[in-house]
Amino acid sequence: MSDKFVAVTGGCLCRAVRYEAEVNLCEAYYCHCKTCQKSSGAPAEIGVFVKPGTLKFTKEDPKFFQSSPIGTRGFCQHCGSRIVWMSPNRADWTNVSACSLDHPERVVPAEHICVESQLPWYELADNLPRIRSEDYPDLIDEWSSVGLTHEGQPL
Ligand SMILES: [Zn+2]
Ligand SMILES: [Zn+2]
Repeated sequence: MSDKFVAVTGGCLCRAVRYEAEVNLCEAYYCHCKTCQKSSGAPAEIGVFVKPGTLKFTKEDPKFFQSSPIGTRGFCQHCGSRIVWMSPNRADWTNVSACSLDHPERVVPAEHICVESQLPWYELADNLPRIRSEDYPDLIDEWSSVGLTHEGQPL
């Protein structure tokens, strides 16, 4: 099996946080969830999956904020750039923000997720799959593992 992960570098705006990782450039995804919207201040975040165990911070570590019961976001404490999303249970879901990469032009988005909260004025003219949270079984499972629905309500 060929390895779909390639070695990349990236970091924050002020360059205090720098990283090396192996990432999957060709299966990036737009997440339109409300948490990603608030966290980024943008209509969607674009995540690039990291091969588990390969993400290394080579200067300062980011600060981490637990943004939901299933996810923690790492950002630069100096400039605020969003760097990484991690889940305590799903190492394979670790992802870096597309534009934290030194060469984000290499990223190829493959799908849109959580499109039930996609903003009506944010339309992209692509033919990628558009997946609602309730149609994403792994996501439902992850939320139910912490006793919540995908909308953060008690089960
Ligand atoms: Zn910074
Ligand atoms: Zn999201």
